Amino acid sequence: MTDLERTRERTPVPKDWTYAPAPEARDIVRIEKRYGHYVGGDWIEPSETYTTISPASEEPLAEVGQASVAEVARAVDAARNAFGNGWSEISPSERAKYLFRIARILQERSREFAVLESLNGGKPIRESRDVDVPLSAAHFFYYAGWADKLEYAFPNRRPRPIGVAGQIIPWNFPLLMLAWKIAPALAAGNTVVLKPAETTPLSALLFCDVLRQAELPPGVVNIVTGDGRTGAAIVEADGVDKVAFTGSTEVGKAIQRELAGTGKRLTLELGGKAANIIFDDAALDQAVEGIVNGIYFNQGHVCCAGSRLLVQESIYEPVVEKLKRRLATLRVGDPLDKNTDVGAINSKQQLEKIQELVASGEEEGAEIYQPPCRLPEKGYWFAPTVFTNVAQSYRIAQEEIFGPVLSILTFRTPEEAVEKANNTPYGLSAGVWTEKGSRILWMAERLRAGVVWANTYNRFDPSSPFGGYKESGFGREGGRHGLEPYLELE
Ligand code: NDP
Repeated sequence: MTDLERTRERTPVPKDWTYAPAPEARDIVRIEKRYGHYVGGDWIEPSETYTTISPASEEPLAEVGQASVAEVARAVDAARNAFGNGWSEISPSERAKYLFRIARILQERSREFAVLESLNGGKPIRESRDVDVPLSAAHFFYYAGWADKLEYAFPNRRPRPIGVAGQIIPWNFPLLMLAWKIAPALAAGNTVVLKPAETTPLSALLFCDVLRQAELPPGVVNIVTGDGRTGAAIVEADGVDKVAFTGSTEVGKAIQRELAGTGKRLTLELGGKAANIIFDDAALDQAVEGIVNGIYFNQGHVCCAGSRLLVQESIYEPVVEKLKRRLATLRVGDPLDKNTDVGAINSKQQLEKIQELVASGEEEGAEIYQPPCRLPEKGYWFAPTVFTNVAQSYRIAQEEIFGPVLSILTFRTPEEAVEKANNTPYGLSAGVWTEKGSRILWMAERLRAGVVWANTYNRFDPSSPFGGYKESGFGREGGRHGLEPYLELE
């Protein structure tokens, strides 16, 4: 008998494989009891506070500040002083040095950030560890590289920084959206006042420690926390030269109205209702993985989520069958468990919005499917959901649900696919699955979407510009294009 056979005999394969949780240790990250606002390189005591929680357990995590108009004004003053007193004047390669340092520190402290992001936001640790944090570091690395090459990026146009950037970000990718905002702003020589979302402030507050470690001059980046009122105060503050906003179309429109005629620059990255289009010649198993990644990644809290699936009629049945089978294998539960595929919904408010839209889908006549899965009792949860029998006019096919809910529609010809895909007020992203390169190009030319993925979905890279058309906003983030909103170009 060989050694291998002997070992096998001693450790027989269990007949019934049971699942063993693999929780990530949470003691790597130290959460303070109370946080102030980070202004001028120091913590200032907040006049008012609220409690931030873990959406997976409703456990309180920390007290954080609710910044008032006066506190926002203090942060803007600090950013103005830093802009006028050195930051905009230091040599570009010196600026790059700070950005490189921030990127390196994020890499070194990646586990800490991943755990905190999953605790406060509810996303699976697998995603924060493998996507959010590495991409955030990659963004700082990428823009560090541009800081001393702006003249090459925009030849003959004398690029100069704008001044103070007021930046407002959402709760779906807290650290990554911070990186998308801060890295290009600093590379271009601006200073920043940033507000994270009310429900997910903790990674931005931990990031202040990275800024200290990197010895970034005081006031170059200021972080104030709070709800929509704090965001509105940033938009309205005198001394802010440019506003960058990511969030809902509704708030984006309000900001645009507020800023009309003020001369402040604006970029908006808003909602989406992307079509993920599967042709009958696509590799179906790969496409099913793409569908799952397109809508269940980050619980569907993704502006570019592939929330409308368009399937060519001839392959409708096998696609739906394979998809349902795949859904039954998704693990929903503790975000800190390394096996988890779908984590917690970010807030009670968002859960209620998803429930309301799903109920409307059933009332309008769509057929719902949810795989059997046991949801935790505490916290905010929603099972991965598929709707079939969906008409284009249903709310679930028109409105952004921002949750793990997929609506399936069919088409017969490529022309019909384009028409249905473009039948939305949004225009952020789309996916095309086919083996024909010529068809990919044909579709990409006709889809009114800022990003078109081919035979993949939700793939991001700092060098690739991202942004929308129509009600999905304007301006680009990422790539050389992402520098432009932060520069005066003559
Ligand atoms: P919001 O647009 O309200 O939030 C985005 C950011 O803007 C947050 O930091 C928010 O603060 C802030 N904010 C809120 N009101 C104002 C204001 N009047 N002026 C300036 N800033 C403001 O999105 P919600 O969190 O309310 O989510 C609502 C819906 O929006 C979701 O269901 C989803 O459909 C969509 N959404 C889309 C996102 C995207 O990336 N496209 C991201 C997030 C949401 P606070 O956190 O306190 O509300």
